[in-house]
Amino acid sequence: MDCIFCKIIEGEIPSYKLYEDDNVLAFLDITQGTKGHTLIIPKKHVRNVYELDEETTLNVFKVVPKIARALKDAFNPIGLNIINNNDKPLQSVFHFHIHLIPRYEDDGMTLNTINHYGEYNPEYFESLVKTIKEQIKSAK
Ligand code: AMP
Ligand code: ZN
Repeated sequence: MDCIFCKIIEGEIPSYKLYEDDNVLAFLDITQGTKGHTLIIPKKHVRNVYELDEETTLNVFKVVPKIARALKDAFNPIGLNIINNNDKPLQSVFHFHIHLIPRYEDDGMTLNTINHYGEYNPEYFESLVKTIKEQIKSAK
């Protein structure tokens, strides 16, 4: 399979490995958006969140606090963002991964959020709940 992260797992492509167990690998993101920017991936090839099974999810997410604490202790950031991109507009590597991005004063990292607080009425929120809950009922 032509997947850059599978190649990293197999050792066909070099990487700066931080942590590895039977199911998971953590390594430095090559772009180092901020100091210590890390990716955590399952060894099982899964395209993104929509394809994650429960066991793989547990395997990957249970490593997140361990690496987060290590980054905090290593670099004393003021904060840390956990990001995961699925399909458009931002996913560029189609092997599920979680970004851990330590944050520092004036680090220039932009993760803009949009705030529509106060723009929607209760009926709109209720309609969202109804639509999503119907899908949760039928979701795997
Ligand atoms: P995303 O845009 O969420 O799919 O993120 C993919 C990330 O993978 C980007 O932040 C890239 O910098 C990172 N990346 C791509 N190739 C490599 C590589 N060979 N080693 C480490 N990180 C990589
Ligand atoms: Zn892969």
